[in-house]
Amino acid sequence: MLRHGLLAASRSTRVRDLITRAPGTREVVRRFVAGRSLEAALVVARDLVSSGLRVSLDHLGEDTADRAQADHMREVCIAALGALNVAGLTGGAEISLKLSSLGQALGPDGHRIAHENAAKVCAAAAAHGTTVTLDMEDHTTTDATLSVLRELRVDFPWVGAVLQAYLHRTEADCRDLASAGSRVRLCKGAYREPASVAYQDPHDVNLSYVRALKVLMAGQGYPMVASHDPRMLAIAADLAARAGRNPGDFEYQMLYGVRPDEQRRLAGAGETVRVYVPFGEEWYGYLMRRLAERPANVVFFARALLSKG
Ligand SMILES: Cc1cc2nc3c(=O)[nH]c(=O)nc-3n(C[C@H](O)[C@H](O)[C@H](O)COP(=O)(O)OP(=O)(O)OC[C@H]3O[C@@H](n4cnc5c(N)ncnc54)[C@H](O)[C@@H]3O)c2cc1C
Repeated sequence: MLRHGLLAASRSTRVRDLITRAPGTREVVRRFVAGRSLEAALVVARDLVSSGLRVSLDHLGEDTADRAQADHMREVCIAALGALNVAGLTGGAEISLKLSSLGQALGPDGHRIAHENAAKVCAAAAAHGTTVTLDMEDHTTTDATLSVLRELRVDFPWVGAVLQAYLHRTEADCRDLASAGSRVRLCKGAYREPASVAYQDPHDVNLSYVRALKVLMAGQGYPMVASHDPRMLAIAADLAARAGRNPGDFEYQMLYGVRPDEQRRLAGAGETVRVYVPFGEEWYGYLMRRLAERPANVVFFARALLSKG
């Protein structure tokens, strides 16, 4: 119930205005978002990489409504890649992209615009020796995003995909994408989806996650296990060992600000661990999805609001 309410609020401009103006919001945002500027994100990325972690930098923004904004988002990503290169971080840091931020929703030309923008970002990543992963958004975009992924992989075979275990289709998508060299991030899924396409019960989502993970670990690709759930992490380790995978043949991924001790523990044990680091002004939708995931985050948020109110 609370999750559905928060996810609905993530699309409401009225609630957004209320929350962005609330006095304690800044403190909560700081916990999950590296900063408003690229410079702030670079400081966090350098810190994480120097402590043995990897990074996927995400310039916040989604549902871009005009071409100029889509092109601007592309340029920020290209600038971020250039800055990572200058900072000597491209060995440990890549970029995550939301196609809706690059113009995917811009009517009949949206697919072409998002593809062209993403291809330019991929070309910059290739020039700097790093990679790109395409985030997955709500289920109405899954086919379009996988289609852009396939087109991008013709020139840039290392482009990463994201699959969401809450969707009924995901086990089959894992089979399609478990080919040699295919980088696939498996997450549970963060959007509000109808029962016609997605499991609603968290237990069913977990079962689906494990089925999908089995396919990815047994396949030829490079699984990226995106979860903070201790049970999913333990099952991933077990499946990787059974599939004869060593540390480095797959990786764990977690969000900035979530279970940082576990991130460091896994990296200290020799595992590859990548932290998803969002930055930028458009933090509202991202923050609401984080609050929806965990009641404790809502309590933290409420406390911050009250203490400043
Ligand atoms: C790197 C990364 C990239 C992602 N990319 C996408 C994407 O492209 N598209 C998309 O839809 N979603 C994405 N997500 C979000 C994802 O779909 C989930 O919404 C999110 O990761 C929460 O799911 P979970 O697996 O951590 O488990 P949950 O079911 O949220 O949590 C399970 C358990 O994990 C532990 N846990 C969770 N959070 C905390 C915490 N803050 N502190 C301590 N313990 C905690 C608790 O034990 C909890 O019971 C991404 C997630 C990650 C980590």
